[in-house]
Amino acid sequence: MIVEMRKKASQKEIDDVVLKAKSLSFSVQLNIGTDKTVIAILGSNTGQISTDIFAVLPGVENVTRIMKPYKLASREFQPKNTIVRVGDVEIGGNRLVIMAGPCAVESRKQMDEATRIVKNAGALIVRGGAFKPRTSPFSFQGLEEKGLEYLVEIKKKYGLPVITEVVDPHQVEMVAKYADILQVGARNMQNFTLLTELGKIKHAVVLKRGLANTVTEWLTAADYLLAGGNKSVILCERGIRTFEDSTRFSMDISSIPVIKRFSHLPVIVDPSHAAGHYTLVPAIARAAIAAGADGLLIEVHPNPKEALVDGLQSLTPSDFKRLMGEIKSIAESLGRTI
Ligand code: PEP
Ligand code: MN
Repeated sequence: MIVEMRKKASQKEIDDVVLKAKSLSFSVQLNIGTDKTVIAILGSNTGQISTDIFAVLPGVENVTRIMKPYKLASREFQPKNTIVRVGDVEIGGNRLVIMAGPCAVESRKQMDEATRIVKNAGALIVRGGAFKPRTSPFSFQGLEEKGLEYLVEIKKKYGLPVITEVVDPHQVEMVAKYADILQVGARNMQNFTLLTELGKIKHAVVLKRGLANTVTEWLTAADYLLAGGNKSVILCERGIRTFEDSTRFSMDISSIPVIKRFSHLPVIVDPSHAAGHYTLVPAIARAAIAAGADGLLIEVHPNPKEALVDGLQSLTPSDFKRLMGEIKSIAESLGRTI
């Protein structure tokens, strides 16, 4: 249930709504806007009480029920777009944010070269997985904490914030010591213990769409992060499983305008894991920007032929540079910068 306060509602009137909700054993989340406050009343049985209980309180403008399963990620709760700040970078604003780098951190040298390349081409954030959730237990699982140390080294050297995946709720605190953005992989989108831990920290979180999840399930998963108090949530579309097998996953371009319509959260696109092949990545990336994505998460390797993970879908330095040029003209035609 959403309680919209009047523009000039006093602090006491806001507090009284919160107290009323708490006396009914509901929890609350406040969205304090520049001109008015919106209060989400949350609980499993809000449907059983009348909206009048809140509508009659002084200072209340309007009470509505959010009929969708997700509440805090919805535009009803927060009409204005969320802008997530990571260092000097803003995700969800007018400027597109390109996050690029190898699938996995493989060595200090590889990470250093990759960062130099993506930074020179205009990426604002560097990616690299230290913990890799692999389909097979026999595949390279990542350098783990050593990999995180390399990420911190390149961050200091090049001044770019880093994004890396966290796979285990017990490792959230440790990964957060090294990384600026924590990534929840597609296979973990509904790992609710992991989401709950990430809700407790202040670091930005990129929540990838599960490979067989609807947009509604994805936004409801985002509510776990928001309900914990972490407001820095960025969604990432990375393709879904369909009957089509000519790509690794089918890029659901339509999810971008759907997210923009129903949610205030920024959404970026990972064309690499959808494509599965480097030749297909640039077209999917361009389409994502044209459809309104706030940025890209893209795999670039100094030498894809030698990559330990996902070499086939990784762009070479020159392909990435070319793509950045193409994206620039698309961004400009949409009134955005890069
Ligand atoms: C990744 O970004 O390296 C990754 C494993 O992606 P996904 O979770 O989308 O498969
Ligand atoms: Mn990968």
